Amino acid sequence: MSTSVPQVVPVGINGEWFDPKVDSFTPVYNPSTGEMIAQTPMCGADIVDQAVQACEAAAQDWADAPPIERARVLFRYKALIDQHFEEIAQLITREHGKTITESRGDILRGMEVVEYACGAPELLKGEILENVARGIDCDVIKQPVGICAGICPYNFPALVPMWMYPLALACGNTFILKPSEKVPLTGVRLIELLYEAGLPKGVLNVVHGGKPCVDALLKHPKINAISFVGSSPIAKYIFETGTQHGKRVQAAGGAKNYVFVMPDADFDNSVKGLVDAAFGCGGQRCMAGSTAIAIGEAADRLITPLASAVKTIKVGATDRDPTAKMGAVISAQHRDRVAGLVDGSEKEGAKVVVDGRSVKVPEHPKGFYLGPTVVDHVRTGMEIATQEVFGPVLNVMRFEDFESAIETANKTIFGNGACIYTQSGKAAREFRHRIQCGMVGINIGVPAPLAYFPFSGWNYSFFGDLHLQGREGVMFYTRQKVTTTRWFRYGEGDIWHKEKE
Ligand code: NAD
Repeated sequence: MSTSVPQVVPVGINGEWFDPKVDSFTPVYNPSTGEMIAQTPMCGADIVDQAVQACEAAAQDWADAPPIERARVLFRYKALIDQHFEEIAQLITREHGKTITESRGDILRGMEVVEYACGAPELLKGEILENVARGIDCDVIKQPVGICAGICPYNFPALVPMWMYPLALACGNTFILKPSEKVPLTGVRLIELLYEAGLPKGVLNVVHGGKPCVDALLKHPKINAISFVGSSPIAKYIFETGTQHGKRVQAAGGAKNYVFVMPDADFDNSVKGLVDAAFGCGGQRCMAGSTAIAIGEAADRLITPLASAVKTIKVGATDRDPTAKMGAVISAQHRDRVAGLVDGSEKEGAKVVVDGRSVKVPEHPKGFYLGPTVVDHVRTGMEIATQEVFGPVLNVMRFEDFESAIETANKTIFGNGACIYTQSGKAAREFRHRIQCGMVGINIGVPAPLAYFPFSGWNYSFFGDLHLQGREGVMFYTRQKVTTTRWFRYGEGDIWHKEKE
């Protein structure tokens, strides 16, 4: 472990980066080695207020800028991210632990939102209806909401912040970004590049911290809208507290996503899809396909090839071993929690068919490693069947028929995503119609929608009305103004028309 004091992650206010005066710090680790690589300053209300003041000073000019001018900043931003793509990918891998390929995906999916937001002039067009009554017209224009804040989780250090600020800025708002205190370095780098792209000072400001910082954002009277992504209990708290303080809130939460495998499925592709869905990013995805629902004889056909495929996943130090296919999880505490859930499932009668609990990477004994794990014969009511696991664990639940499977799946409190593998159009249609969640895949692992569609969680997976991304994202970051217009007579200087009056 390094003996030098790790860098303090700077806050960025009014275009300046500096170490804020704070009482406490949270360590940022490289999960692959367990080494502390930075310290996040835990900011409070004073720093949040500085960020709000910077937003306020920049707000009018940015809101008045023609949408194409705002879009041009984003076009330049996209070019800069392309230029620094590999550097950012390495940074994500270093502070998060996911593989370089996954880190590239993290940036690419975020970049799609930047590309979408580059269409600001088109996205911000209003509507008009002539003659709502005789001689009276009505139109709707979209205006910025004001100061918006984004509070992010650790699992997608680039994508989740980019779900938020590109669209917010394109819509003419100013923004305060609070990256996850566990992975703040990527967010800081992304915003440095945004300033390099020509964003005016103060339009976007970066603060860091945990609950006190978030509470200051939620309660600040000058912040108008809050975007949140994280676990469900916190999402619920954010929604309730933010709305109580008069703010518009969109809060995406946790998940428990089911992958149905019907007896008529294409098994090779189902196994491949399941492995990707369950173990991509070490299962730390809100769209992880964390439970296989095997129907009828599908279970017996699935489990052997599935176990073989999972055993080939090489766990390793993703920041230095390009052959590693899965990295460490975010912290030692999280590793122990996930392993504890697997222990508990065994005690409750489930069968661990691939056991990652003892996986070690000998060169890095302090890394937060947990190997891919498959738990078969998971039953309703077990702790592992109800809680979001958020680690490299695939549960397999067995059902006699589609009816009992869908009934059980629909009992979860969550409602992010689900998918089905089948060759039957009828089964797929029935599944899409009846499954109680907002994002559905058919013969494709639990799919995260692209930037031009809403990220559409339901139930305990989302609190609010307007989701992140797509047109709903534009609606969230704008207020509509409806103008009804009538003109009684031509103006004084209008000689040609006056003659006709
Ligand atoms: P988390 O809820 O612990 O933290 C998210 C954010 O909330 C962080 O910025 C953190 O500082 C802040 N926070 C934590 N505790 C708080 C408190 N008591 N009061 C106020 N703020 C608090 O989530 P995480 O562990 O960083 O991320 C993983 C979770 O995020 C998983 O549940 C995952 O499913 C979810 N997630 C959801 C989506 C989605 O789109 N639905 C996407 C990505 C991640």
